[in-house]
Amino acid sequence: MIIAIDGPAGSGKSTVAREVARRFGFEKLDTGALYRAVAVVCSEEGIDLADLDAVAARAEALELAFEATGEAARIAADGRDLSDEIRTSRVDRIVSAVATNPGVRRALLPAQRSFACGRDVVAEGRDIGTVVFPAAELKVFLTADPRERAHRRVAQRHEHDGAPAPAGALAREEAETLADIERRDAADAANTVPAADAVRIDSTSRTIDEIVCEIGRLIAERRAS
Ligand code: C5P
Repeated sequence: MIIAIDGPAGSGKSTVAREVARRFGFEKLDTGALYRAVAVVCSEEGIDLADLDAVAARAEALELAFEATGEAARIAADGRDLSDEIRTSRVDRIVSAVATNPGVRRALLPAQRSFACGRDVVAEGRDIGTVVFPAAELKVFLTADPRERAHRRVAQRHEHDGAPAPAGALAREEAETLADIERRDAADAANTVPAADAVRIDSTSRTIDEIVCEIGRLIAERRAS
């Protein structure tokens, strides 16, 4: 069975997909990690992200290896582990330029599809239900208020750091993160379209547990039909 979870940055896709994978026995596919890896490699190699053909050719030639287990996706490009590099705010800022390149989107399709071959997969991204797995048995489109998404992103970052930030610095960081999220929403808009048959879930004032339980009910329904 394939579950597609699409939605904008910070809507809770990763956390929800991870919990769905853990509770219901699915492999998790984080498709954003693939676009991020292409962005890291191209920027390190000095490839101009505006040069669509050069970036697409690099994506096409790139040997990507990824696995789904654990807290965050592990990903290697041409044999080099990029799992940490892909998560920086610099990559947040440049990744849309890579992801809006149609040649890159085409180049990354086979890897996403072969990952799911013969497995139960929960795949999270933007175009999973529309392009990557249009026949997915269950499609969810997750949204949340942009302010809430910015708040979650900052909280997540500080959880990783382990150090509490002063309130003024937090407010500033949330405002900057909100601006980043709004920029990325605008850049990603064309590739972030809910499938006609997607179940829309607004995560703004709901807990992860409530959402995962709702998805659990939908999985049971789909399996019974
Ligand atoms: O989900 P995440 O924030 O890691 O995705 C990083 C970027 O990759 C997004 O901002 C978007 O530009 C791109 N992306 C995409 N299609 C997907 C997954 C991610 O265009 N299926």
